[in-house]
Order: sequence, then C-alpha cells, then structure tokens
Amino acid sequence: RRADALAAKSDDVLRSPVLCVLGHVDTGKTKMLDTIRRTNVQLGEAGGITQQLGATRVPAEAIIQRCGRVKGFTPEKVKIPGFLIIDTPGHESFANLRSRGSSLCDFAILVVDIMHGIEPQTLESIKLLIKRKTPFVVALNKVDRLYGYESNPQKDIYQHLKSQNMNTQLEFKERYEKIVVEFAEQGINVILAPDNKDVNEYISMVPTSAQLGDGVGNIMAYIVEHSQKYLSDRLGYIEDVDCTVMEVRSLPGLGTTIDVILVNGTLKTSDIIVLTGTDGPIVTQIRDILMPAPLREIRVKADYEHYKEIKGSQSVKILAKNLDKCVAGLPLFVCNRTDELEILKKDAHDQLQKALTSIKKK
Ligand code: GDP
Repeated sequence: RRADALAAKSDDVLRSPVLCVLGHVDTGKTKMLDTIRRTNVQLGEAGGITQQLGATRVPAEAIIQRCGRVKGFTPEKVKIPGFLIIDTPGHESFANLRSRGSSLCDFAILVVDIMHGIEPQTLESIKLLIKRKTPFVVALNKVDRLYGYESNPQKDIYQHLKSQNMNTQLEFKERYEKIVVEFAEQGINVILAPDNKDVNEYISMVPTSAQLGDGVGNIMAYIVEHSQKYLSDRLGYIEDVDCTVMEVRSLPGLGTTIDVILVNGTLKTSDIIVLTGTDGPIVTQIRDILMPAPLREIRVKADYEHYKEIKGSQSVKILAKNLDKCVAGLPLFVCNRTDELEILKKDAHDQLQKALTSIKKK
C-alpha cells in the first residue's frame, strides 16, 4: 500500500514541513516562536496564521510577507503550503515526536545565543538531531545585544549587518568565529547561510534577534529554500496516512479526545481508525475533526471549527468513542479495507511493545 501511495505521489504537490525549535534554555526559543507567530494578523483568516493543537500553521502568504525584503527571495518560487511549527520547543519534545521510527520533524531550528555560544543543552540537541538525521539551521540569536547594534527587522540581515558601525561588525565577527570553533570541536562545520556552498559539509547559520525580529525573515526564507531544494522527496504529499497521537485529553462536554499531528495523507470523519491502547488495540470511528478557530482580535472563548476532512501537515483534535485508554506518542492508523484490520491491530500492539522496550533501555 505504501508503495502504491509512493508511486502515486506527485513532486509538484508538497506538504508543509514540520518544524521544531531546539536549543539551550534562555537562548530565545519561545521568543522565536512568538515572533514567527506574530508574522501577520492582518492577513485575515485566509492567509493568516492559525494556532492549531500543539502546533502553529504558518501559511505561505505569511511567510512571503515576512520575507519581502530578503535578498534573493522570490515569492513565486514558494511551493510549500507553509510551515507547521511544533509549539513546545526543546529537545525533550523533539525526542518524543517520532513517527515510523524516525523523527516526525522534517527540519529544526537550533537556537544559539550569540553572546554565550554552545551550551550544554545545545550539545544535547545537536546529538539528537544527528541521531535522528534531522536537517537543521542555526539561529545565531540575540544579535541586538552586540554593542551599538541598530535594529531594523525590515531589512535583509546580512546587508543590515554590513551597515552597522565598525565596532559592532568587529564584535559580530569575533563572536561568530568563536562559535565556528566551538562547533568544529564537536566535528561540525558551520558557516553563514549565504556563504554555504555545500549543505552536505556545512550547517548554515542565520543571525537573528527573536526579540526585535531582525533576521527572522532570512531564517524563514532559508527554510523554504532548503526544504524545497533538499527535502522535496520527504515532503511530497502522499495519500498514505502518517499520523501521530500527541495528547490524550478529557474535555468537558467532549469526553476523551486525542490531539494528533497528521504529517501526511487525509483524515475524514467516519474513517475507521486503529490506535494503541493500554489494554490492547483500539478500533473506533472518527466522529468529528476539530481545530481551534483562527485567532481574532479579541478571543471570546476557545471555539472550535469542525472539519469533514483534513490534509497533512496539520494538527487537529479528534472525537471518537473509546479513547480513554489511548497511549500518546504512537501512530494512528486508518483502516481502509476490512481485511486490513487484523494487521493494523497487530501493528498497534507492536508499537506498544516497542515503546515499552525503549523505555526500559533508558
Ligand atoms: P527559551 O528558554 O530558549 O525559550 O528562551 P526565551 O524565549 O524564554 O528567552 C529567554 C530570555 O531572553 C527572555 O527574557 C527573552 O526576552 C530574551 N530574548 C530572547 N530572544 C532575544 C533576543 O533576540 N534579544 C534579546 N536581547 N533578548 C532575547
């Protein structure tokens, strides 16, 4: 079935890459997410950013708006529908986001404080990213703390750095070079993104100020370009469902619900789904698919919108019976034909065994 789906896949249709933010505490991971999320509210509901469940969807329109002044960025070349960014930054969250045994994240932003360089959790994050083979870009954050730095979030960061006064440029160069050495000590070559001629050899770095917005357009443009150029195989939209349960939650009036990340494929109401439960596989039917309503100026209450059908990559809440014993962090399977059911139940059961052995190993 997966082979059929792969054969049917079209390279023209890409899904949104799932992005994760990692790095040491206090480097600005949360700030980076907030800044990206604020990209533009005035785009309205069609092109605006929507906070989903555990993830934020940044549509192409919002990316294009933010990247307007980035040198070499051409809006017509944006082929991905947007980004889906995981809301909880940090390596613990990244480590838990698995799908089909590999990472659920397609691409990561590793935030490094330019004033501090590599710190203990930067190292942990790097190790994890390498282990899971997740490509990443380094955000060299807090450039606004360089002495005498003058901010301008509208400009291309590389051009803007060149227009800073001499001492600021020298401080940037010194700190940059120190960080290059620190990465080299870990066996990793890093270089400023525009100078990177070989992504197999070098990891790109983009100077940013998550606080003021400088360089955020550059980092978004980099992710668009990189993912379209190097990840198009992985991002080719296929009909085969790739979906992971993020959270099992009991809500007043709704009963037990699951929040899932649908990386690929389509989920529909009335689909028969198979999940892993503590007491064995759960077979149930999707009753409703919910997403929080788009953020408006004043949010009256947490409203949900209902969907009959949803395509990856997105995160949604699913309503169905018998979800109480569902285990989070494991896949959701869709049963398309009755003769698949027993196989999927066995798959769901095996997932639990695998998860238990990996916990024991730890
Ligand atoms: P996290 O622990 O990595 O999520 O870091 P936060 O996003 O919570 O940021 C930690 C602190 O650094 C907060 O006080 C932020 O306001 C501040 N901060 C984050 N990004 C920047 C930046 O680009 N420049 C400056 N000057 N401060 C920043």
